[in-house]
Amino acid sequence: MTMIERSSPKHSTSSPDMSKPSVWWPVPHRPRQWFSADELQASKRYNRPVRRAAVLRSLAQFCLLTLGMAALLQIDADVSWWFRLSAGISAVVVSWWLPTVIADAWFEYRHEPRLGHRPLSARKFAVGLGVAGLAGLSGVGAAAVLFYGSMSLLGSMWWFGAGIFVVAGSLLLGVVGPALSGLTHQLQPMRHTPYLTLARGLDVDFVVMASDGHEGPNAMAMGWRRMVVAVTPALLEADIELQEHVVAHELSHVRHRDAATALMFNAALEALALVGLGSVLAGRWGTAVVDWLETEGSIGDPRFLPVVALSVVVAVVMVRPFLAWLSRAHERRADMDAYELVGPTPDWALRQLHVTTRGDLDPPRWVRLFSSHPSAAERLELAKRLSRG
Ligand SMILES: [Zn+2]
Repeated sequence: MTMIERSSPKHSTSSPDMSKPSVWWPVPHRPRQWFSADELQASKRYNRPVRRAAVLRSLAQFCLLTLGMAALLQIDADVSWWFRLSAGISAVVVSWWLPTVIADAWFEYRHEPRLGHRPLSARKFAVGLGVAGLAGLSGVGAAAVLFYGSMSLLGSMWWFGAGIFVVAGSLLLGVVGPALSGLTHQLQPMRHTPYLTLARGLDVDFVVMASDGHEGPNAMAMGWRRMVVAVTPALLEADIELQEHVVAHELSHVRHRDAATALMFNAALEALALVGLGSVLAGRWGTAVVDWLETEGSIGDPRFLPVVALSVVVAVVMVRPFLAWLSRAHERRADMDAYELVGPTPDWALRQLHVTTRGDLDPPRWVRLFSSHPSAAERLELAKRLSRG
């Protein structure tokens, strides 16, 4: 495995460590310094409604889940276990899926056309949502059957079993997830790429990844054992310096196996959070929830599946800032490695990249806390500091 030499003489200075940016801590986020008022305004017009829709969708999901639970409690506790379980699974899947359909339809047919984009055909849209719904149903279904099955084995230690399921589920999703992108995207191997010299001995394939969505110039590193760098068709039309910068960034993720590290951390942290929450729920709190709902049974009854699902969501949200922090560090390192590998990329090209991919140019602080990437302004500032040496 080739490592990038960090102390290339080209960039060394007399006071090397004074201004060397850290991988772990952010450089200042000052969007006004990098983007015009018009660009910031356009970004806000595009991104703010999307964010509002996401918050509304989550609220709707929460309300539906609560309604589902109220409905489930109307079922007698002595009705067959399978019936209670199926009802629980249906409540969770429907309350997740329905608001998703509405939010996606709004995005595809109202929001995007306003910006002059041609929406997906109704058939493709329906197929996509159908696949997501079925995947959700089988995922939640399998998890719930295993979970409640283990509960009868583990008794009050059920939360321990739940922790193991979350780890296994996270790992499985991480390994299988990228393979699924082959189903929703057209992948085409690139034979003669201008990027091979950048890969310098790394065992990696390059593919073009086309989708029906509206993707700007972008790339991603995927794979588990055999790594693949996928680029969007829009990237191939970009300036060659920008292409090389983006690909060199992805190659850093490949070299450092960032995806695998993130996956391990994700699974471990989620399991920890769930075990913590679960042990609380299994004890007095669980009894309190059941008492409060003035019903019979225990939290281990499948009619309480919405409560358990909500606990999983809470656990995932709790650990997200830590995972996002780690991910931003990986992104900074990849930006630094790209700089070492291909040298400085012109400001205008980097600015263009962020403007055309229509990311939020000035996200509020809480969004940045949950973001997998440093803000555009931060990445531009980092590039400037790197070129200063
Ligand atoms: Zn990256």
